[in-house]
Amino acid sequence: TTSQELLLSRIRDVQDYPQPGVVFKDITPLLADPKAFTVLTDALTELCVRHGATKVVGLEARGFILGAPVAVRAGLGFIPVRKAGKLPGATLSQAYELEYGTAEIEIHAEDLNEGDRVMVIDDVLATGGTAEAAVELIRRGGAEVAGIAVLMELAFLAGRARLEPALRGAPLESL
Ligand code: 5GP
Repeated sequence: TTSQELLLSRIRDVQDYPQPGVVFKDITPLLADPKAFTVLTDALTELCVRHGATKVVGLEARGFILGAPVAVRAGLGFIPVRKAGKLPGATLSQAYELEYGTAEIEIHAEDLNEGDRVMVIDDVLATGGTAEAAVELIRRGGAEVAGIAVLMELAFLAGRARLEPALRGAPLESL
């Protein structure tokens, strides 16, 4: 089987989670399979190299699980983007729209510098709202976006189209 088939076979569809009508893509079977987790880590690492990343940003919470081993493999630093109120130092924060209400994410301002090329890593791109806010944060920190790399993109939610203007030509890679 190909790498893609292996990865797909380890993602579980959970009906009506977290609410009725939603099919949640659960990646915990993939994380529990060392072969699949290694294939995923290697593929994301390759994307960091190909796009010339100098730092890895992981989006809370599953982006931490994927981004940390990728950063180590790629020989790059790892930077967490967290939900508001979790980071102890001076932060930049960015609010974004949810279906109901708003959310806010933060990054330590000192973690971004001019000249950095940041790869944003997460498990699933859904509406694209989280990734879009992360791109804004990175630019406001004076850094460049090397790209966004996710395990999977829920194409029917059209996150790619929403993200397009914010990307300014940076690649959105979904495995
Ligand atoms: P978005 O902002 O693109 O609508 O949502 C993406 C964020 O929500 C990501 O951080 C992702 O982890 C989480 N997310 C949304 N839907 C799913 C899903 O079906 N499965 C998983 N694992 N995460 C999801």
